[in-house]
Order: sequence, then C-alpha cells, then structure tokens
Amino acid sequence: MSCNYADGLSPYENKGVLGIAEKFDTDEEIESKVTKLVELLEMSKHVVVHTGAGISTTAGIPDFRGPNGVWTLEEKGEKPKLNISFDEAVPTITHMALRCLVEKGYVHYVISQNIDGLHLKSSLPRSYLSELHGNMFIEQCNKCRRQFVRSTATPTVGQKPCGGPCPRQCRGGVLLDNILDWEHDLPERDLDMAFMHSTLADLNITLGTTLQIIPSGNLPLKNKKYDGKLVICNLQPTKHDKKADLIIHTYVDDILSKVCKRLGLEIPAYNSKEDPTKPSTEGNQEWTIQPKAIKELEKQYNAKQKAASAQRKAGKSKFTFFTAKEPTISKKKIKPIDIDESKGKHAPDTKDAPCVKKSN
Ligand SMILES: [Zn+2]
Repeated sequence: MSCNYADGLSPYENKGVLGIAEKFDTDEEIESKVTKLVELLEMSKHVVVHTGAGISTTAGIPDFRGPNGVWTLEEKGEKPKLNISFDEAVPTITHMALRCLVEKGYVHYVISQNIDGLHLKSSLPRSYLSELHGNMFIEQCNKCRRQFVRSTATPTVGQKPCGGPCPRQCRGGVLLDNILDWEHDLPERDLDMAFMHSTLADLNITLGTTLQIIPSGNLPLKNKKYDGKLVICNLQPTKHDKKADLIIHTYVDDILSKVCKRLGLEIPAYNSKEDPTKPSTEGNQEWTIQPKAIKELEKQYNAKQKAASAQRKAGKSKFTFFTAKEPTISKKKIKPIDIDESKGKHAPDTKDAPCVKKSN
C-alpha cells in the first residue's frame, strides 16, 4: 500500500487548519534553543516525546497539514508527490535518535500519532511506546485483543480483517488491522499509558505535530498543572504555542542531531536485522502492552495525584486547578480538535486555531 493511506479512510469534513506557512529560526536562534533543550533534558527526571507526521517526511511519507500535506493538497484536488510504500520506508534520523535517547535514559516514553510503523522498525521497545492511531505493521485479534507484528503493511485500514486467524488459536479469533478511522475509539491501553506518562512528565516535547487532533494533541499539556515544561518543535505554528516554554522552528532531524551531538551520543543507523517487521526475525512477534505495565504506572500516577492533593490542601496555590477527577482516559474518539459541540456538528473554531499572524 502506498503511504497515502488516507484514501482508505471514510470521508470527513473538518480536517483542522491546513497549509499554514512554515517558519524557520535563524542559525543563532537554533543554537541557543538547542542549548536550552539540552539543559532541560539533563535536568528532567521524566521526559516524554510526542511525535507526529512531521518526523516521517524525510522518510518519504507525506504529512497531513503542512504546505504539501495530504489534507492541504486534497483541498486543492491534488495528491502528495512524496509517496513511497510503507514497506519501503525506513526510520529517519529522528526515529533512530529517539531510540538512542531512550536507551541512554534521557527520554522515558514516546507517544506517537503516526501509523507508519517507523518507531517499531527503529526497534524502540514496546514498553516505551504508545501508538494512539494504530500501526500499519500491527494486527490485533478481535477476541483475545493480543497484537502481533506483521512483515508487510496491512492491506486494510479501519480495523478490518487483514491477516487470517489468531496465531494463538483462540476461539474464532480473527486478526484485524489496528488503524483508526475517524471517530474510532483510541486503543485503550496505549491511551492509558500515554495519559499517565504525559501527566507524570516534568518535560513533554512535541516533534512534528500541529497538535490539532484530540485527545493526542492535548496530552503534552497534562503536566502543566504540576508545573511541568512543554517544548514544541515544529515548522508550522501549533495549537498550543502559547503554552510552550520553548518553541523551535526547524527540521526535527537537525534538532535531534544537534541534541545528540551535545550529549555526546552517536545516533545509530537503521539496521534491518533489528527491525521486527523483517521476515528474518521470528514470526508473529507479540506487540501487546502488558496489563502489568499499566498497573505499575498507575501506582506512580496515583502517588503523584495524592501528593498534589496534599499540597493543595496545605494551601499551595500551584495545584489550585488540580481536581481528583481527571477526564476518563479511555474511550476517547479521534477527531480534529475544533469541534463546536453546541451546534451538534464539527466546525473550525478560529479562536483556538494555531497562532497565525493576521494580515491587514
Ligand atoms: Zn486471539
């Protein structure tokens, strides 16, 4: 299947804000911002990186809302020119740098909106990754809910039968692709892990996303009421620029290369022998988030809530906005963030659109 998997999704009217001009910092600005980012990485204890389509464009996969993005071009009746197949695409410098930063303990979790499977191909372990919108190289049994790695991209999208019976031979279990269509529920375990890690993070970093899709786009703000920091790395303005402690406008591959160099880390090259999607590795490798991992993280999350609650009771204003009732973290729908629910239909909300300078 070509990377323009969007052709397989249902029609959907509101795709969010499209085609905003990209911005580039000067070389001096980039150097000083990278210095600040490295300082934040070195002083933070729980760093979570949120990735979007912008980290895969150098692999030849088009983004959605950039000047040459899938939805931007669709509006003009055009198709992306960048378009290799998912099977051919290999991880970028950013994917490989993230794996390295996780291995070296600088990054503690990665949350991706991307379905291209490039984090999987970079051999980032499942225990460090939530994939909120699915993965073209994963199939899931509709009975036991276990997930398995595929050696080729799924021929279907929208959670349809794609690969025969469940390898565990559970009663009548059939393998489905796990690619979300509009309005599908997000995968519960991935979302639970993502929600808790984003809240626990003292530093959330976003890479290559305009943060327009909910709930994914709002997760990087979950640490704000605990005085956590937010760094946004993107070419276009994003939905949450006003809340960022640092914004870097340049290519994410350049940012990650500079960060790793400053930290004295060598970014590994992609190695097909470590890629779980390659047929040489063992077939039907499982890719399920284990319930034990969720339970362990829940302990940390509950402890943080308890500590915040105690501080709030002691009258410290930092946690004024904290309430014990967090929104339900499962059963969220994927949809663009600008929803005018009062009218019962989807509509862009220009008030909250990504910051664009208005021309007079
Ligand atoms: Zn099964």
